[in-house]
Amino acid sequence: MAISDEDKQFVEKQQRVVLRNCGVINPENIDEYIAVDGYKAIEKVVTSMTPDEVIEEIKISGLRGRGGAGFPTWFKWNAAKQSPGTEKYLVCNADEGDPGAFMDRSVLEGDPHSLLEGMIIAGYAMGANEGVIYCRAEYPLAIRRLEIAMDQAREKGYLGKNLFGSGFDFDIRIKAGAGAFVCGEETALIASLEGERGMPRLKPPFPAAKGYWQKPTDINNVETLANVPWILFNGGAAFGAMGTEKSKGTKVFALAGKIKKGGLVEVPMGLPLREVIYGIGGGIKNDKEFKAVQMGGPSGGCIPASLIDTPVDYENITKTGAIVGSGGMIVMDETTCMVDMARYFLDFTRKESCGKCNYCRIGTKRMLEILERITNGEGRDGDIELLEELAVKIKDGSLCGLGQTAPNPVLTTIKYFRNEYEDHIYKKK
Ligand code: SF4
Repeated sequence: MAISDEDKQFVEKQQRVVLRNCGVINPENIDEYIAVDGYKAIEKVVTSMTPDEVIEEIKISGLRGRGGAGFPTWFKWNAAKQSPGTEKYLVCNADEGDPGAFMDRSVLEGDPHSLLEGMIIAGYAMGANEGVIYCRAEYPLAIRRLEIAMDQAREKGYLGKNLFGSGFDFDIRIKAGAGAFVCGEETALIASLEGERGMPRLKPPFPAAKGYWQKPTDINNVETLANVPWILFNGGAAFGAMGTEKSKGTKVFALAGKIKKGGLVEVPMGLPLREVIYGIGGGIKNDKEFKAVQMGGPSGGCIPASLIDTPVDYENITKTGAIVGSGGMIVMDETTCMVDMARYFLDFTRKESCGKCNYCRIGTKRMLEILERITNGEGRDGDIELLEELAVKIKDGSLCGLGQTAPNPVLTTIKYFRNEYEDHIYKKK
């Protein structure tokens, strides 16, 4: 079948590490994964490397958590390894919840063995013998393919007792989550795993010291762990050679919204936003003007057209007021009302608040009421200032990342598109 120029442009400009096997191999056939050097990294690790050497290789790679926080992966592994105790757990956060994001889903459905292999390596490095994949129940195909992959890996001796005769035991199980956005937060996820309501807990203690059943626990997201086999097979330096000084490697983004060619895009960190939107995505649908992009899902913020040359990496995106987050990228054109966009995301986080903190539970509700009256043409003088005041209080008074970041879409739209708020309030547009 002939491939269109648009498709060619979409694929050719990407650099695929995490997505290298997606759409290439049959995810239900372990032999196809093995044929592309699958499970070679774990063999190398358990037969010739110490756990400290594995952690050092991850440190050299510069890999940072791809789930949102961007925390150095080696540091988390090392913290769990250093924590006293022989019973430790590795948890994979597959509770992808940002609207429009499906990076993890694609890896789970398209290349489940790369996640399993990454988990086995992480377990070896930190001294865990059990891994748990906390996967949202709305991903039935992902769960089925993971189960098939785990059965095949056990049959081949990649999961279970005494891997490669090394004396290292490791197995994995799946816990289906009910799809609460807050369960992406580490301590809420642990509470849910333990059978409690998914509500965040106070930190410290951090999960690396006291996590699942009070045992040292490391939690990484799917994309982070799926990078690991490639890093150990090719070397940390090869991964570190991609990206920027502080944001190494590649990142997968879910390009969606008013874009000509949307879908999953994996690019080296530091590529300018313009390259992603125009170079890979082909520009704005119906050749309209690019207005802004919402990055990082409901916890992120919008980046206006004037900043389209911003390099896409942790440091530069954070400077704009948005975040890389798990990789959501929703493109907006000249017709998008930015106040309405902020209202949509705040409505999402308000509904997903677990209700533990007053500011998050009630403050987001009050902010939403203000946004609704503004978009309904009933805005009042002083509403913008009230939104800003509430936003600061919610950020300061919230226990977890959900509340601390919930006002971001409102704050960034006020920062870059204040005129739209004023037009709604004073010109009743
Ligand atoms: Fe729950 Fe919000 Fe408090 Fe987080 S900030 S614990 S979601 S109420």
